[in-house]
Amino acid sequence: MSADIIITNGRVITMDETLPHAEAVAIAGNKILFTGDTLSALSHRKASTRIIDAQGGTVLPGLIEAHMHLFPGATEIDNLQLQGVHGFQALEQAIRAYAASRPGARLLIGQQADYTILSDIERVTRRHLDRIIPDRPFIMFSPDHHTAWANTIALEKAGILKGRKLGPGNEIVMGDDGLAAGELREGEAINPVQSLSGSGNRERLGLSTGGEPEPPPTPEEFEYDLTVIKRGLAHLAKHGLTSFHNMDGNLYQLQLLEALEARGELTARGRIPFHFKNFMEVSALEKASEMSARYHSDRLASGFVKLFVDGVLDSWTAVMVEDYADRKGWVGEPLFTRKQFAKVATEIDKRGLQIAVHAIGDGAVRIVLDGYEAARKANGPRDSRHRIEHIEVVHPDDIPRFRELGVIASMQPPHPPGSQGLPLEPTVSRIGRDRWAYSYAWNTLRDAGAHLVFATDWPVSDINPIRSIQSAVTRKKWADDLPDQRQTLEQAISGYTRDGAFTEFKEDRKGRLKHGMLADVTVLSGDMETTDPEALHEIVPIVTITDGKIVYMA
Ligand SMILES: [Zn+2]
Repeated sequence: MSADIIITNGRVITMDETLPHAEAVAIAGNKILFTGDTLSALSHRKASTRIIDAQGGTVLPGLIEAHMHLFPGATEIDNLQLQGVHGFQALEQAIRAYAASRPGARLLIGQQADYTILSDIERVTRRHLDRIIPDRPFIMFSPDHHTAWANTIALEKAGILKGRKLGPGNEIVMGDDGLAAGELREGEAINPVQSLSGSGNRERLGLSTGGEPEPPPTPEEFEYDLTVIKRGLAHLAKHGLTSFHNMDGNLYQLQLLEALEARGELTARGRIPFHFKNFMEVSALEKASEMSARYHSDRLASGFVKLFVDGVLDSWTAVMVEDYADRKGWVGEPLFTRKQFAKVATEIDKRGLQIAVHAIGDGAVRIVLDGYEAARKANGPRDSRHRIEHIEVVHPDDIPRFRELGVIASMQPPHPPGSQGLPLEPTVSRIGRDRWAYSYAWNTLRDAGAHLVFATDWPVSDINPIRSIQSAVTRKKWADDLPDQRQTLEQAISGYTRDGAFTEFKEDRKGRLKHGMLADVTVLSGDMETTDPEALHEIVPIVTITDGKIVYMA
C-alpha cells in the first residue's frame, strides 16, 4: 500500500510499547500505515507522496488537550493580556494603551491579572480601576477566571453597584460604603458586567448556564461565531493539538463545530459536554443523552456531562475538608450538596455517560468521590472512567479511592503556584503548610494507582502543551520535605497522548503511533529527549496533522 505522507528523519516517540522509538511514520488516508526506519517507510512512496523531513526533531502522536474552553478561549485571544504585569503603574500603562487601541469597544476586558497584581497585600478595588479608567466600562479577570474586578461605571451599567442576591458560592464583594467594592467572585457575579461586551455572551453560555442562545443567533451572528471558533482552532493547530476535550458546553457549540466540519475546516477532533448546573432538574439530563446520541464520531462527539462542585482557592470558594489556613471557621460552600451531587451522578451514570467534575478543594473532591461511589452502588460497576478536574488539594484518606473507583485524575501542570511564573501567594497560605504535601499531588495519586491525564485549562493557562510538559517535568517543591511531584518526560507526554485517548475511550484509535491508528501526528522543531528540561519551551510544532491532513505548517 502506498503512503500519502511520509515523515522521515524523526525521533519518533510512538507511545507504543512494542516499538517505543522509530525514525519514520507513513500515513495513508486518515490512518497510520507504518512506523519504523526511514528506508522502509520510503518503500511506501508513490509519485504524489508528500515527504516531511523532521530533521531530527521529535515526532509525537497528535497531542490531546484534555481540559480546555474553546469558545471563551478563542474570544479572549484579542483581550488585554496582563500576564507578568505588576504594580499600579504598570497596570495603568497597560490598560490605557489597550483602551486607546480599542476606541469602539463597549467593554474593555483584561485577563491573566494575578490576585496580587497591585502588591502582595493590597486587593484591587473599583477605586484603583477608576483612577486608571473612569469613563469606560472595564473588567479584568484573574488567571483562573473565577474572580474579576470591575470599575465603577461597569458595575453601574451592569446594575450591580448596589449589590444583588446571588446563588451559593457566588459573591459581589461589598465595601464599607454599602456599594460593590469591585471584586466579583464566580459566574453569577461576573456575568452582568461581562454581558456589556455586546457579543451576546454566546461564548460564555456553555459555562454560565449550559443553555442555548436566546433568541437564536441570526445568520450573521452564526458566521461571526464561526470566525471566532476558527481562530481558536488555528491556535490549537499551531500548538500541535489534534484533539481537545472541551469543559464547557451546549448544543450550540456542537452545531458550530459541525458547520466547520461540513466545510472541511474542523482541524481538531472535539468533545463537547453538556454542562449541568445546580439550578437544573435531573430531567435536564435528557438533553445530554440527545447530544451524545447525535454526536459520536471520531471527529466530533459529546458523551459526557460537566459539573462544577466548587470554585477556587484564591477566592476561598474552593471547598475544603478543614478550615482554610488563613480564614478560620471557613471551609467554602459547595455548589452541590453531597446528597444532590450523588443523585445527579447516579442519574448521569445510569445513562451510560461519562462525568467530569471541577473539584479543587479536598472537600469538593470528597463530595465527587462519594457521588461516584453512590452511582456505582446504585447502577453496578462498569468501565465508566469518570473524571475529576484539577484536584488541587486531596485529603490523604481519599487518595486510594481513585484506584478503587477507577476515577481519572485530570490535572494541569501549569497550575501549581510557582509554575510558569505564577506567584506562590496567596495560594500557598490559603492551603496551609499541613496540606502542602497533598497539593497538586501528581505522583502521590499516580503511585496510589490513579490514572492521570494532563491539560492546561486554556484560557486559564497558556495552551502550549510543550510548555505544560516542561512544567510537569520541572515542578519545584515549596519546601524540601515535600514529596517530589516531578513527572518523567514519558509520563508527561503520555498525559497528552495515550492518557488523553484513554480518557475518551479511544485508546484503540489514537494516542499512539502504530499501524491502523488514526493519522494524528505532531512534528516538533527539536528533540525533546536530549533537550535540557528547562529549555523545552524553545521547541515548537513545525507540522500538525489531523486525520491525515496537514492542518498547520510553520
Ligand atoms: Zn476549566
